[in-house]
Amino acid sequence: MKKIEKISEDAHYTAVDLGDFKDLMEYSLIHPVSQKLIEGKVFLKDITKASGTQISFNSLPPQSEQPYFHIHRKNEETYIILSGSGFFQVDEDCFNIKAGSVIRVAPQGKRGIRNASDETMVYMVVQSKENSLEEHTTADGERIPVIPKWR
Ligand code: ZN
Repeated sequence: MKKIEKISEDAHYTAVDLGDFKDLMEYSLIHPVSQKLIEGKVFLKDITKASGTQISFNSLPPQSEQPYFHIHRKNEETYIILSGSGFFQVDEDCFNIKAGSVIRVAPQGKRGIRNASDETMVYMVVQSKENSLEEHTTADGERIPVIPKWR
């Protein structure tokens, strides 16, 4: 079982390396509810000490699908497809997805995903509490003078 490599860490950050995305299938975890082994999935919240989002990287082998549909109680999810192509279904709507597709799903949306291509589908899921974002991008950022150490 592959382990996430920690690159660097201090009080204000945690940096990790997941390795090449094509090797994502080497990660596995035990699902906390079903107790089943899930391959090709890695969660980042605990290792990066994130406090507002749960991010996962996921992979589906060629011609395969997530074996269940699911909903969430409080969190919306944004799926970002990085490789492969296939189908995404929310409730009664089913549509084509491919690398570059981004799908935001409300907590109550019944969602499922299928890789219908002959390559591994890799996708990222950003999970955060619905309606929790108060400030974003330029409204929350502030420029400060720092001389980069890479110079
Ligand atoms: Zn989910």
